[in-house]
Amino acid sequence: MTQATSSPPSDFIREIIDEHLRTIRFQGRVATRFPPEPNGYLHIGHAKSVCLNFGIAAQYGGTCNLRMDDTDPTGESQEYVDSIIQDVKWLGFDWEDRLYYASDYYEQLYQYAVQLIKIGKAYVCSLNAAEIRDYRGTLTDPGKESPYRNRSVEENLDLFERMRAGEFKEGTHVLRAKIDMASPNITMRDPIMFRIRYEPHYRTGNKWVIYPMYDFAHCLSDSIEKITHSICTLEFENNRPLYDWFLDELKVEYHPQQIEFARLNLSYTVLSKRRLIELVENGNVSGWDDPRMPTLAGMRRRGYTPEAIRNFCERIGVAKNDSLIDLALLEHCVREDLNIKAPRVMAVLRPLRVVIDNYPEGQVEEFDCPYHPQNPEMGSRKVPFSPILFIEQEDFMEHPPKKFYRLAPGREVRLRYGYFIKCINVVKDRNTGEVTEIHCTYDPETRSGFAPDGRKVDATIHWVSAKHSLSAEVRLYDRLFSVADPMEGSSDFTEHLNSKSLEVLKTCRVEPSLKGAAPGSRFQFERTGYFCVDPVDSSDKALVFNRTTTLRDSWAKISEKEKR
Ligand code: ATP
Ligand code: MG
Repeated sequence: MTQATSSPPSDFIREIIDEHLRTIRFQGRVATRFPPEPNGYLHIGHAKSVCLNFGIAAQYGGTCNLRMDDTDPTGESQEYVDSIIQDVKWLGFDWEDRLYYASDYYEQLYQYAVQLIKIGKAYVCSLNAAEIRDYRGTLTDPGKESPYRNRSVEENLDLFERMRAGEFKEGTHVLRAKIDMASPNITMRDPIMFRIRYEPHYRTGNKWVIYPMYDFAHCLSDSIEKITHSICTLEFENNRPLYDWFLDELKVEYHPQQIEFARLNLSYTVLSKRRLIELVENGNVSGWDDPRMPTLAGMRRRGYTPEAIRNFCERIGVAKNDSLIDLALLEHCVREDLNIKAPRVMAVLRPLRVVIDNYPEGQVEEFDCPYHPQNPEMGSRKVPFSPILFIEQEDFMEHPPKKFYRLAPGREVRLRYGYFIKCINVVKDRNTGEVTEIHCTYDPETRSGFAPDGRKVDATIHWVSAKHSLSAEVRLYDRLFSVADPMEGSSDFTEHLNSKSLEVLKTCRVEPSLKGAAPGSRFQFERTGYFCVDPVDSSDKALVFNRTTTLRDSWAKISEKEKR
C-alpha cells in the first residue's frame, strides 16, 4: 500500500480502534472499506473518506476493501465504476484483490430477509408510498402501525417470493422490518428493506426486480466482508441503531462497529453528486473531468497531484462536528507540492513583440537555464535568445504610474537568465493607438544578469524568443463559484457560478523546451503560475496548458488565523 506521508496524528476514530485492539474486540483485526455508489465520479469529499479508510488500514497493518455500493439501479453505471477504480488508484491506494460489489450479495441479502420474516421481524406491507410516509409520524408524533403489520409468516413468505418473481407492480408492496412505530428515532419505525423496481441494473440486468435499501444492504455487506470498522459520515448517526438491529436480529458472525465522522465541506465548492450531475448535464462545465470540477478526475486534469490531495486530507483531519474548510488550504497544499516538483520554464501568455535593435541580426545565443533554482538535480535546458522576443503585455507600460517598476520608455529591466534591455521606442497601431511592438537596446556586458558598472534594475521579466517559441493555448481556471457557500439560501445554486472561472488564451508563446511535453506533465511558468499539459486536448501540434493554480498564496492569512 502506498503511504508517502508520515503516520497521521491520532483522532477519535483511531482512539476507538486502539481501544478495540486493547480489548481484542475483533481478534485484533482492522478491516475497513470504502463504499462508493457508482452513480457519479468521486469528489474531494470522497478523497477524505478514501484516505481515512485506506490510511487506517495501512497504519494498523489491516486491509481496506473497495466496494461498489450498487443497490439502486437508477443512475448507476459501469462508466462510474471504472472512474472510481481509476481515481482511487491514482490517489495511491491499493485494494489488492478486494474489489467487491454489493450487487453480488443480492441473493444472500434476499435469504437474510427471508430469515427475518421467519422469526417474525419483517413483513410485507401493502400501503402505498404516501400512506407509508403518513403512517411514519413526525419528530413529535409517534407513527401508526401498518394494517399489514400482523400478516402471518406464511403470507409474508409467499408475498415476498412473489415480489421477487415479478408478480406485482412497482409501489404495491414493500418488505419492512418490524421494529417500533413509536420509536423516538424515526429510522427505527419499521424501515423499508426491499422495494419493487422494474429497472435494469448495470450488472444484474433484469434478474432482480426487488432491490434492497441502503440500511439493510450496507450493514450486511460489511458483515459479509468481515469489516471491523464501518466508517461513514455523520448523517448516518441516526441509522446506527438500525445497522446494529439487523445484525443482532440475524445473529451474524461478524458485527462491525459503525463510526461516524464529519463530512468534508469546502468553500466555493459543492460536494454533492446530485449537484455535480446537474452541472455536467446543464453544460455548465465540459464534463466530470472539467478542471474546475471538485472531482478527482477534474483535479487530475487541472494538474493537482495525488500527494497534495493526500496531504490536504491529512491536514484537515477527522472530527465529529461539521465545519467548512477553506478552499485556500487545498490550493496551498497543491502549491506546496508543485513548488518542489514542477520544473520552471518561461511562457508568455499575452505576448508583446520586442525588437532588440542593437543585437546582431541572425545571431542566436543559447542560455543554459536551470529547471529549478533550489534543486540542481532537476538539470537545465537551453533557452534560445534572438533579436526578436515576446514579453508579457502587462510587463510594459507606456505611461507607468509611480509604483510600476517594469519596462517603460527609457526604463531598463533584466531579462530572466539574460541581459539588461532598455526601451527606446514604441510602435502603435495607427487606428487603435495600441502599442504593438517596442524597440529596445541590450547591454552585451550584462549577460551574467549583472552590470559591470554596478547599476541596478528594479525588475526581472520573463520572455521567449519569437522565432523559437512555440504557440500554445492556455486555459486560465479559477474558482467555479463566486461565493463561499453556493448552497446557501433557497435560490438556484448555479446562479452563483463564477462567470470568470475560465479564460482561454489562444495566442500564448512558450519556450521550445516544451515541445513534446507529456500529457499531464506539470510546470511552473515563471512569474505566472503552475500549469499542466491538458491530458485530453493537448497534442504535439497544438499544445494546450491548464492553469493548475496561481503562484500567489492566500493561505498565509488563514494560517495566521489558525495560530491565534
Ligand atoms: P454525495 O453526497 O456526493 O452524493 P454520497 O455519500 O451519496 O455522496 P457515496 O458514493 O455513498 O456518496 O459515498 C461513498 C463514501 O464516501 C461514503 O462512505 C460517504 O460517507 C463518503 N463521503 C461522501 N461524501 C463525503 C464528504 N463530503 N466528506 C467525507 N466523506 C464523504
Ligand atoms: Mg451514499
